[in-house]
Amino acid sequence: MATLEIKDLHASVNTEEGAKEILKGVNLTIRSGETHAIMGPNGSGKSTLSYAIAGHPKYQVTSGEVLLDGENVLEMSVDERARAGLFLAMQYPVEVPGVSMSNFLRTAATAVRGEAPKLRHWIKEVKEEMGKLEISQEFAERSVNEGFSGGEKKRHEILQLALLKPKIAILDETDSGLDVDALRVVSDGVNEYKNNSEVGVMLITHYTRILRHITPDFVHVFADGRVVESGGKELADELEENGYVKYVGKAEPAA
Ligand code: ADP
Ligand code: MG
Ligand code: MG
Repeated sequence: MATLEIKDLHASVNTEEGAKEILKGVNLTIRSGETHAIMGPNGSGKSTLSYAIAGHPKYQVTSGEVLLDGENVLEMSVDERARAGLFLAMQYPVEVPGVSMSNFLRTAATAVRGEAPKLRHWIKEVKEEMGKLEISQEFAERSVNEGFSGGEKKRHEILQLALLKPKIAILDETDSGLDVDALRVVSDGVNEYKNNSEVGVMLITHYTRILRHITPDFVHVFADGRVVESGGKELADELEENGYVKYVGKAEPAA
């Protein structure tokens, strides 16, 4: 069992004009076995939430806490976060020229498992998971994310998920830039991992489309840097119908 607690999280982004507050008091708890969809309009701070939890240097947590089983995530190094069982798609570099996917994945697995997986086993494991995700074998020899399409990047993230086996996974806009086939492959990959583990998932998305494939237990509306409404999966249907209009402007800071 694992619990990720986000408590009154405030964070700013460093811009040319100085620090700008984006997260304005996020509260959220995710437990093993639960899937939480975070849905909100563009620019509401959803990606900032995942960057802040990942410890991206451009984003500064100004107050609040992120705890994994009571341990302060914000004080952990990237490796420590991974070893603790936290998977943040965002913590991985966008492009790593010269580092092949298979080497990159083995390094990541070594960090998580505490020892390097045996090469023979590892190659078999990677091949098997790549097959399930319909990723071609030449992909393993390509540099990390270099020239990957949106769909390939997302398949890569799900491949990491399957290989690194985290306790809590934060997936940001997994449906963006995916065609229908890629969406199905990625959703199937997430669902398979969900079925075979007790993973807790935070699925950040702007669209309700992916939620037809991955059923959330909870849906949270994110607006102006915080969670403004929470409900079950019926809340996603309501958002599909009515959009975010009624929630925007509802997130004024408490006096
Ligand atoms: P979402 O993922 O919900 O679309 P983001 O977290 O990407 O929202 O962005 C929230 C707000 O923070 C936006 O107004 C965006 O312009 C601003 N922002 C995010 N990252 C940066 C950045 N690196 N530099 C400047 N502004 C940023
Ligand atoms: Mg956006
Ligand atoms: Mg975003």
